[in-house]
Amino acid sequence: MHARTCLLAMVGVLLLAGHADFARARPGAGAVDRAASLKLADSIKTTDNARFARLLDELDREASQLPDEQRWYLRYLQAWEAAWVGDYPRATELAIAVADGAGDITLRARAGATSVNMLGLGHRYAEAFTRLDRMLELLPRVTDPLARFQVEGEAQQLYTGVEQYDLAIAFANRMKRELATPDAQCKATVYALNAEYHMGALASPERDLLAGIKLCTDAGETLFADGARGFLADYYMDRGRIADAIDLLEANYADLRRTGYRNLISQFDAQLARAYDLRGDSASARQHALAAIRSSISGEYTKPLIDAYRLLYRIDREAGRYRDALSFHEKYMAADKAYLDDVSARALAYQMVRQKVQAKKTEVDALARKNQILELQQALDRKAVEASRLYIAVLALGLLAIGLWLLRLKRSQLQFMRMAQCDSLTGIYNRKHFMSEAEYSLRYAQRSARGACLVLIDLDHFKLINDTYGHATGDQVLRRAVAACQEHMRSTDVFGRLGGEEFGVLLPECSMDSGIERAEAIRRSVAMLSDQPDPGIPVSASFGVAFTGESGYDLRQLLVDADQALYRAKRAGRNCVVAGKQGEGVVVA
Ligand code: GH3
Ligand code: MG
Ligand code: MG
Repeated sequence: MHARTCLLAMVGVLLLAGHADFARARPGAGAVDRAASLKLADSIKTTDNARFARLLDELDREASQLPDEQRWYLRYLQAWEAAWVGDYPRATELAIAVADGAGDITLRARAGATSVNMLGLGHRYAEAFTRLDRMLELLPRVTDPLARFQVEGEAQQLYTGVEQYDLAIAFANRMKRELATPDAQCKATVYALNAEYHMGALASPERDLLAGIKLCTDAGETLFADGARGFLADYYMDRGRIADAIDLLEANYADLRRTGYRNLISQFDAQLARAYDLRGDSASARQHALAAIRSSISGEYTKPLIDAYRLLYRIDREAGRYRDALSFHEKYMAADKAYLDDVSARALAYQMVRQKVQAKKTEVDALARKNQILELQQALDRKAVEASRLYIAVLALGLLAIGLWLLRLKRSQLQFMRMAQCDSLTGIYNRKHFMSEAEYSLRYAQRSARGACLVLIDLDHFKLINDTYGHATGDQVLRRAVAACQEHMRSTDVFGRLGGEEFGVLLPECSMDSGIERAEAIRRSVAMLSDQPDPGIPVSASFGVAFTGESGYDLRQLLVDADQALYRAKRAGRNCVVAGKQGEGVVVA
């Protein structure tokens, strides 16, 4: 499984970038004094946070005497302080109030950016996207480069979170142009690299990532440098360069731990766990996986946490510690589900807001047309009869245009539904949708007291195919393997991609024997792909089959049992089918 690093972990870091370029305040009297104190406070937020907090307290006591704009400024700084100490609900509330209420546009933009950030952290995605939209409308009028940088930073962050990488890259590039300071250049560059890396758009990932790391190290932005190191470590591991990955992570691990930045620490631990596991050192892998869980923030379900649970499950199962393995598997499933729910909540929120904006445009359009028609009607009334035909034609055209708009809207909604349910590479169900369809099908099977089989399919030595022929060919093999499987699917079967090169099929109304038979037929079809001259690669898959008669109707139990059978199939030499809790693999030459 990919330990996909996610720069969402960096949320908050950007927010905490300070307005450090304000002139130091000179003591004056009365109103001038307070205005200067506010600016002074703003400029020392991160560098002297204790003094900043004291200044806020002093100003807060005189809040009633402050003119409106200064009071808004104070509230913004209070929102910032609340975010800094982790009081997100208060920070959110204050930031929203300032974003909506303040008169100064720079302040509104800064508070707006903070509110978007806080709403994202609070998983209130629909509100976050709605506010972001509003911020982006405001942006052309904002002249302060740091405020613009903050808004664009939030935009790229949210778009990355919903995998809209093109948009994310565009905003990261705008950030680069906003501010020339080394720290701003570092942040914008790492954000751009994050999106480009996940999109597969880096021409030479190693060189680009190393350059990004250097930029950030030179700027003293070690957290951002570590963020980029995370991607580089993934890149190394995906290419089998395990030693490089371990060296890179270990060299920076101790320093990172000292920062106390838990999201990234947890990610490094999960990556080290994966690397040591790939190297065959399960003791170190286990240690780091446990550390990844300890560092993760409770209640937050991140990719590193899921990877750590999954790895622990596998290691303990292989070591025969079945009780621990089962408990880790349960935690893995729960975390995985929560994570996927969050991912789709984010995607849904994005699409919803987009649809709403589109719908609003359509509405405005429709209104404009109606007005036109009304105006025409008045004019036509005067010219009466001869023109009435024209009036009808215009009316019809106007309505047709609106109809077409609605059709387009509907189509994009349908397309989005497909996007949320299907895997983009192979077109079959993605993991989340597979799970819900399989559960539905199992409930039906249970009610009608019919048996069902769950088949797990994992391509053999797929890493080798990637390493030997490259990722693009690997992708092609994946698509062909899926097509081979589909030849054997009935309309009621549920077929999905569970992870990289791992697939699941739920076969309703299927006995253990016919489950084995069908898995065997699929296995033969996949193995026959090896005979195709183009590209002439040896392909095979191993199969684990579980049956409701033995495992019951609980999808999780079926998955555990099928996974264990699959594991025995791999041990038996691959390219074979193993069924049930006791089954053994028979290797077919
Ligand atoms: P085994 O026979 O034990 O299953 O060996 P394996 O090499 O297939 O297993 P492993 O899980 O170590 O490797 C899976 C590989 O699949 C690693 C990863 O780089 C690759 N992979 C995952 N997703 C994709 C993808 O979308 N495209 C390509 N080309 N490769 C992928
Ligand atoms: Mg495999
Ligand atoms: Mg696998």
